[in-house]
Amino acid sequence: MSGGMPKDSVPESSSSSNHRPPPQLSRYESQKRRDWNTFGQYLKNQRPPVMLSQCNCNHVLDFLRYLDQFGKTKVHLHGCVFFGQPDPPASCTCPLRQAWGSLDALIGRLRAAYEEHGGSPQTNPFGNGAIRVYLREVRECQAKARGIPYKKKKKKNQIKSKDQAKTSNQNPQMHSLLQKNGSSA
Ligand SMILES: [Zn+2]
Repeated sequence: MSGGMPKDSVPESSSSSNHRPPPQLSRYESQKRRDWNTFGQYLKNQRPPVMLSQCNCNHVLDFLRYLDQFGKTKVHLHGCVFFGQPDPPASCTCPLRQAWGSLDALIGRLRAAYEEHGGSPQTNPFGNGAIRVYLREVRECQAKARGIPYKKKKKKNQIKSKDQAKTSNQNPQMHSLLQKNGSSA
């Protein structure tokens, strides 16, 4: 394990003295700690093991995909008859995944934890743009597969024109998918 973490940014945690009883942690804090440990364990289990200092956004993306096997959110595949149905009348064999919201919150906690453990914000792999793109795709995909729109309904021509869209980097493919989804009747 690495003992070379800078101490100045993390006055709370000291590696030398374990005498102090852990303070009462909020749910967020304890969850964050659990997530951080899980991620650290995941890196260690890689072959070869990945040092935290070598960790980049690809490791994070792999980690997110790895977590899907523990997910509890049914995400219908395109071939499933329940694709796009928020409340299917029967069960199907589509895979369970991590819900987008869970992943999004997880990334937020790990991003904070990374910096609390001495990581630099500039190199924070959890803050990488690739992660944001991935999460957006997951959100898109799950919203469609589960028939749960995350956006307010808009008229088609409004979607087409990028009038006041804050996110200018939304790709046109996304829009066409949204339109397709909107008119399933
Ligand atoms: Zn299904």
